[in-house]
Amino acid sequence: MSKRKYKGDNQSGKNHHRKPRGRTKPKGRQKPVTAEVTCSGLTKEGKGIVQWEGKKLEVEHLLPGETAEIAISKKGRHVHTELKRIIKPSEDRIEPPCVYYYECGGCQLQHMTNQAQTRFKQNTVDILMQPFRKPNPILTMEHPYAYRNKSHTTFGMNRDRQIIGGLYARNSHEIIPMDRCLIHDPKADEIAGTIKEILRTTKLQPYNEDTGHGFLRHVLIKVGKTSGEIMVVLVAASSVFPGKNNFVKALRKAHPEITTLVHNVNKKDTSMVLGDDEKVFFGPGTITDTLGGMEFVISAKSFYQVNPVQTEKLYDKAMEMADLTGKETVIDAYCGVGTIGLIAAKQAAKVIGVELNNDAVRDAIRNAKRNGVKNARFYQGDAGTFMVEMAERGEKADVVMMDPPRKGSDEAFLSSVVKLQPERIVYVSCNPETQVRDLEYLEKNGYNAEEIQPVDMFPQTVHVECCALLVRDQ
Ligand code: SAH
Repeated sequence: MSKRKYKGDNQSGKNHHRKPRGRTKPKGRQKPVTAEVTCSGLTKEGKGIVQWEGKKLEVEHLLPGETAEIAISKKGRHVHTELKRIIKPSEDRIEPPCVYYYECGGCQLQHMTNQAQTRFKQNTVDILMQPFRKPNPILTMEHPYAYRNKSHTTFGMNRDRQIIGGLYARNSHEIIPMDRCLIHDPKADEIAGTIKEILRTTKLQPYNEDTGHGFLRHVLIKVGKTSGEIMVVLVAASSVFPGKNNFVKALRKAHPEITTLVHNVNKKDTSMVLGDDEKVFFGPGTITDTLGGMEFVISAKSFYQVNPVQTEKLYDKAMEMADLTGKETVIDAYCGVGTIGLIAAKQAAKVIGVELNNDAVRDAIRNAKRNGVKNARFYQGDAGTFMVEMAERGEKADVVMMDPPRKGSDEAFLSSVVKLQPERIVYVSCNPETQVRDLEYLEKNGYNAEEIQPVDMFPQTVHVECCALLVRDQ
């Protein structure tokens, strides 16, 4: 059965070259067998769950209720499945708008209608949060494409030694050449395309991860959606930029809308995009954006929420949960460029922000000044250590707002929060799984989850943001 048959199910009659991609066959894999299966549900990663010979298997891009033919191959204990042909499609299935969808690793849910994505995310959060309480209906995005204000493009070479730029394929570091990613800002992709063309006219080579040779690794583009400012960060493997002047001149000529250009040096063998050193070629080295009626300066290395439309909804909810009256001492932990803390400062007596990233703290301090906020202080450091020290000094806080990275918080932080005895904790998380772990700790130590609000910050992907309010037991 040909893979292309699967695409035949999109009854549009168009000759799509998109197909679910079978990753290259690892050596030692047994000959695949074909089976007809029916999908009973979805995993957290959005994969279809099927039963085959008494085993539970996962099939990418298969939806609940669908009957399909799949290929199953085994390698040792690992079972690999591939969707071959859909026999009975689900009403939730749509033709993914992106032509790279089945190859690329960025999105996982484009084959689902918006409603099905919403149901899937709601269900994921409902199940995870079962030990606490039923979450509110997820806050969805009206136009769930082109939302990202930040994009990465990776450069490499194809077999014909032509320079290509795009995103990584699923589960791999193979670059899928692409001109447009539908969740990126279109202007960002246009600029990345120009950079690829300029590279082709110069002697600069893209960096090769395997050999360590070459120059340009990635391009990071940040767009201030409200200000229109655009930062381009050329992430290179070397601090020497041969032909810099011509490169910069060509880029500026093609895109006078770029407001700042940064050369970041990443010499390390790492999957981290940015290195430590950077040189600003022109402009301030930062962009600004507006959120919650305040203006924020953002550096290349500072974290800033990628979906500003949904961030407004998230922050509104977080502020509602914080329920500030003007008298409170608020801690903004994992504060980034100070967004949550500075918005809270308007309705609080005092805000204390803590953040690990030096550049983000510097931005947060500038942002306080820029917005005339005088009751907020920002400190650089590990949030856990900072809180332990605060607890040791016997300090108090009324409200703790926390927004840790994907791995969640840690016991040092959480145990100190418990010692500080805030009335309320507003916990914003981009990974509800680690949030559940931390909520369990807080529930065991005198707090009660009173409200849980999921927000769809990353449409088309399996990721979901979640904001929880914990109130101290009386
Ligand atoms: N609240 C901000 C940032 C949230 S992202 C916003 O909404 O924009 C999480 C932030 O936690 C990042 O800025 C990251 O640099 C920071 N971070 C990661 N580990 C940390 C730690 N151990 N201590 C303090 N901050 C940390």
